[in-house]
Parts: sequence; C-alpha cells; structure tokens
Amino acid sequence: MRKRYCKIVATVGPASASPSMLRMLNETGVDVFRLNYSHGEHDALTRTVEAIRAAERANGAAIAILADLQGPKIRVGAFDGDGLKLKYGETYPVAVGETAPNGVIPLPHAEIFAALEPGDVMKFDDGKIQMTVVEKSGDRMTARADTPGLLKSRKGLNLPGRALPISALTDKDRRDLDHALSCGVDLIALSFVQRAADVAEATAIIDGRADIIAKIEKPSAVEDLAAILELADGLMVARGDLGVELPPEQVPGIQRRIVRAARAAGKPVIVATHMLESMVEASAPTRAEASDVSTAVYQGADAVMLSAETAVGRHPATAVAIMDRIIRATEAEPDSMAFAPSLSADDDLATADAITLSARRIAEVLEIRFAVAYTKTGSTARRLCRDRPRCAILAATPDETVARRLALCWGVTPVVTEDISHFHEMTTNADAIARAHGAADGERIITLAGYPFGRPGKTNTLKISRIGAGQD
Ligand code: PGA
Ligand code: MN
Repeated sequence: MRKRYCKIVATVGPASASPSMLRMLNETGVDVFRLNYSHGEHDALTRTVEAIRAAERANGAAIAILADLQGPKIRVGAFDGDGLKLKYGETYPVAVGETAPNGVIPLPHAEIFAALEPGDVMKFDDGKIQMTVVEKSGDRMTARADTPGLLKSRKGLNLPGRALPISALTDKDRRDLDHALSCGVDLIALSFVQRAADVAEATAIIDGRADIIAKIEKPSAVEDLAAILELADGLMVARGDLGVELPPEQVPGIQRRIVRAARAAGKPVIVATHMLESMVEASAPTRAEASDVSTAVYQGADAVMLSAETAVGRHPATAVAIMDRIIRATEAEPDSMAFAPSLSADDDLATADAITLSARRIAEVLEIRFAVAYTKTGSTARRLCRDRPRCAILAATPDETVARRLALCWGVTPVVTEDISHFHEMTTNADAIARAHGAADGERIITLAGYPFGRPGKTNTLKISRIGAGQD
C-alpha cells in the first residue's frame, strides 16, 4: 500500500499503554507516540518507552517518541468536598495557597496571584468557567463569576492575554526532562511557550539530545512566532489551550498561519487536539471532525495528533485507523498535493536547496515514485520534505537517532542503512531500499547524496536511474 505523506501522532494513556496495544497502534499507522508528562509516573513511562521500542523492532520501522512536558500549567488549589458552587454575578475571595477556607478560591501560585489585576479574566476547566478579577489590594483579591457552575479541585486555569512572569520549564519539567532524555526519547514538546527565550532555555539544557517542538498555545507565542520558529526544531498547533486563551474563531486562521510559517522554514508542524474528539466515546467520527483532519492535510501539516482519543478513549485503534483513512482519502484527491514550493529562485539558495527543489520537479515530470536521500544528519531529507515532492522520501541514514526524529516529517520514510563510500554502492543500495518499499524492476528513481560520501551537509549529487540498471 502507498505510504501516507501526513504522519499520525498518538498520545499514550491508560487506553493504549500495554505492549500489545502499542504494537497494534503502530501497525495501524502511528508514526509518533506522545508521552504526556502531565500524567503518569516515571516508572510507568519508562515501561512505555521500552514497549514502544519493542514494537519498533517487531514492526521494523523507526518510531519517534515525543515527550510532552507539562510546562507552567496553572491550576486552582483543592476544595473540600465536590468543589465550590459558583453563582452567576457573585463575587468570591481568592487567596494564595494549596487550600483555602470554605468559600474562598485557593490559588497555589504566588507569582500568578501577584501578576493579576482588576479586569483580568480567569478561565477554569478548559474555559468552562469564567471569572473576572474585580478588586485587589495586597494579598486580598476578589473575583466575579461570569458563568455559574461547580469549580472543582485542581482544574486548569488560563489567564488569556496575560504574559506571565514565569519560565517555560518548572522544577517538575526539569525532572521530567531528565527522565525523558535518560529514556532516549527523540522529541521534547515544550508547553505554554511564551517567548523565544523559553525555547533558548530548553535548548541549552537539551543540547541536541532531542529535537524541540514548541507548542503554540499562548497569544504571546503567536506574536513571537518567527523568533520561536527560528530556535525550535518544530511546532505544535496546540488548539486546546489556544482556544481557551483566544476566542475559538481565531484558532483556524492561526492554525493556517503556523502551518505556513513552519513549512516555509522547513520544520515539522503538528496539528493537535480535538481532531476526532467524539471518538473518545463514539466508534465513528463526526463529519466535521473528518473535515478538520482533511483540512490539516490540505494545508500540508507534517502530522495530525490524537490526544484523549488514544489516551483514554474507548476506541484507540479505530481512531488511528480512521485518521489513516481520512489522510489517505485526502491525499488521493487530485488537488491535495498542489503545495507551492517553499523556495523560489529569488531566494538565496544553497546548492542543497537547488538540488532538492529540482528533485521535486523531476519527480513530477517523470512521475517518479521514490527518492532515496542519503542523509547523515537528516538535513537532506528535511530539505526535500520542505519542498513537498510527489514521491516517497526514503531517508537513508546510518544513525538510528536521526531516523527516529525523521519519523515525524511529512512524506519521509526513515531507513537505517550503512554509510556508503562508492558510487556503485550509492546506486545498488538505493535500488535495494526502493525495492523494499515497493519499487519495481526497471522503475526510475531519484537518488540524492553528498559527494565525497560521509561528510554531512554537502548535498551536491542527484542521480536518476532505473532499478536494476546498475551504474548506467
Ligand atoms: P495539552 O496540549 O494537551 O498538553 O494541553 C495540547 C493543547 O493544548 O492543545
Ligand atoms: Mn495545552
């Protein structure tokens, strides 16, 4: 079967953490597994990583593991009993603390309390409950309930429009990061990035041991997008919190902008949250959900993500299977691959850019189905991916770590292979790789490499050859 171009990220949780389930989800189409560090003990996460690696060995294709750090997620403290029943229009005192006397709203974060001012909106529980700060003096604050409802313990709190005086890595994140890196995860997602400096801080710690995905879920991150994109290795359109921080009508336009910016930069972008949300319960998606996944595919997103659907849903495997079908059906539409090239002749092109851009054109005019890219660091494969060619990108790399990270990238099939040292090897090896992925005898393929072989970052060679024809 033809490979998909758009990749699938699935969140692991109680519904999917068993070794047999992880293996089945991978077989059904998951390219990247996301570990949510907001939930789960380190020991359990270690076992999940081991089970994913076992599935990778069994199924024989590189899998990327994405560790998603909780970041400075703000929560309300704990109430006695069920929670605090808020009446519309009533005001309630707010105090710093993990708990508070009856009728008072506890806020565990002193620095957040300090930053709040009258007029600030507080959204609890995914925006289901909204309050507005009405008065503040010293350590006393009151807030009015704009919506009635039961405010339960430990529910999330968003402060839309407010840049908060906190870094993107909490002490918990630092511990989680240590754990994730010690398990050898491939990608680290940073939550609630507010500014480029947050990415720089993580880069200094991670130091190349994993690629960094900046989650765009704060309005300030949308404003600082260009600088964040420059420092991050990829982006996630985190529509859940983004849609709480901003009015929902702004989310689709921002999604489109983020996907475009990431594509132009040649960095992978994941569209996340609520994609098949109704499948947490139902065995089929709504038509609107199918349309949402399809929209991300038309936009050229590298990957679409499942959250609760696979973490706690009733039909994790069906959700993956349906996502796979929606992507394939969209990619089979005649206009689905009409992506504008991200580079033009007016840009300051490096040799490698010119080669990959040409490869895209050659694949189109000769209707070539496979391009083998020899890539030591992954950069040749990423460049070709950036140009969104109409052919499979078989990324041949000696480095397993590079292969795994490439599993997230649009159209890329990573293949771990020995380094080549001669031209005849370049051809025979590429033939074997393409054959293993469905190329027929005599079929034309494209091969990209840097010569002299084995030196990274020097793509300068493009060969068009027929499978089995040897060096001619
Ligand atoms: P989360 O991030 O699921 O970790 O909150 C994604 C989002 O906010 O959309
Ligand atoms: Mn979020």
